[in-house]
Amino acid sequence: MSSPHAIEVLLEQATSLLLAMSDSARLDAEVLLADVLQKNRAYLYAYGDVELDPAALHLFLQYVERRKNGEPIAHITGQREFWSLSLMVDASTLIPRPDTEVLVETALRSCDKKNAQVLDLGTGTGAIALALAHEQPQWRIDAVDRQLQAVALAKQNAQNLQLHNVRVYESDWFSAVEENARFDIIVSNPPYIAASDKHLCEGDVRFEPRSALVADEEGFADLFFIAHTAKKYLAENAVLLLEHGFEQGEHLRNYLSQCGYVAVKTENDYNNNARVTWGVWSRGMSHE
Ligand code: GLN
Repeated sequence: MSSPHAIEVLLEQATSLLLAMSDSARLDAEVLLADVLQKNRAYLYAYGDVELDPAALHLFLQYVERRKNGEPIAHITGQREFWSLSLMVDASTLIPRPDTEVLVETALRSCDKKNAQVLDLGTGTGAIALALAHEQPQWRIDAVDRQLQAVALAKQNAQNLQLHNVRVYESDWFSAVEENARFDIIVSNPPYIAASDKHLCEGDVRFEPRSALVADEEGFADLFFIAHTAKKYLAENAVLLLEHGFEQGEHLRNYLSQCGYVAVKTENDYNNNARVTWGVWSRGMSHE
């Protein structure tokens, strides 16, 4: 019989404690225990009969308790994978979502310029900027956020990942972006949830900053502001890419077209929901 402090026994117990609040109770328990032991999840299966020492046991029980109270896994472990990069995460920013990888993929195929200048507005952990920097070491990327804590976090992530082609600085959208800068790509995953959205009271989002999630005008205020203001900072034939809510695609496409963007399109995420709308800025083709 296994000891009560053996990995396999603890995993079963933690899973049953988490079942009521999580759809992924077993996975949560495994991720938390792997983090405590600083091993990968395969280790837990290979060494199920290994006993935890008292310090590890104490930490694991604390982690499980925090998860039981709804805290996101990424806040407990302090990290999240995005685009296969390990990012440090804290309560000052949004936790990077897999859906945002669609924005990264679209940005990568939207531009074939070797030395593209890129701007990521509201970078949070730096997820988008760092994924682009990793794929395109020749691109020069400005990543801005108005929250100082987010700026510090994104800088730390850039340093941990040894990505030196990203410059992170404090800016409230374009406020500190150099007046004469012209970018080939501007990307943003801004707050886009309406204040009345009931999802704000469910799951991980309860632990994320509202400033990263909620925007005025039924969630469109920041999307519209960025779309409108970006025109001044985009080079000829440059692209603007915006992540948005699954019901916001049509309205946003219309707004981008009204602003003078051309070739406006929406891309779906991995759940087949509209997620990223993008357009090309061409002074020649617009009426401005
Ligand atoms: N750009 C960051 C991300 O995609 C933060 C987005 C936000 O806070 N709305 O993860």
